[in-house]
Amino acid sequence: MAETIFSKIIRGELPCHKVYEGDLVLAFLDIHPIAPGHTLVIPKEPAATLDELSEASAAALGKVLPKLCRAVKQATGIEAYNILQNNGSAAHQAVFHVHFHIIPKPDSDRGLGVGWPSAPLAAQDADRWRQAIISAIA
Ligand code: 5GP
Repeated sequence: MAETIFSKIIRGELPCHKVYEGDLVLAFLDIHPIAPGHTLVIPKEPAATLDELSEASAAALGKVLPKLCRAVKQATGIEAYNILQNNGSAAHQAVFHVHFHIIPKPDSDRGLGVGWPSAPLAAQDADRWRQAIISAIA
C-alpha cells in the first residue's frame, strides 16, 4: 500500500490532535471538520480500504468505535451523529488508509449531508444479488 499522511501520523512524524490510542487503533480530530468534534478513527495497519483490513484490526476498531462515539456525544453535547467510511475515490475517499469518521449532526443544516437515491428492490434483483453475494462471501 502507498504511504499516506495517516502513516506519518501513526509513526508520530506528523502531529495530530490525538484523542485515543490503543495497540491497533488511533483516533484524532479531523483537520478540516464538517462539524464540532469531527473525529477520525483509524487502524494502525496500513490497509487502503475496509475490505483489505485484517480481522484483528477490524475487531479492534469495532470494539472501540462505540466508546469513541459516546465520548464525542458527551464532549459535544450533540446527540445525533453519522459514521462515514469511504472506500475508493468514486466513493469520496481522499486518504487511502482505512478511516471511520465520527461526525456529529447538530441539525439538518450542519454535519454530513446524505444523498439517498433509492428505489424499491425488484424481486429478480433481490434473488440475483442475494445469490451473488452469498457465493462471494469467503
Ligand atoms: P475521506 O474523504 O478520505 O474519507 O476523508 C479524509 C479526511 O481526512 C478528511 O476529512 C480530511 O479533512 C482528513 N485529513 C486529511 N489530511 C489530514 C491530516 O493531515 N490530519 C488530519 N487530522 N486529518 C486529515
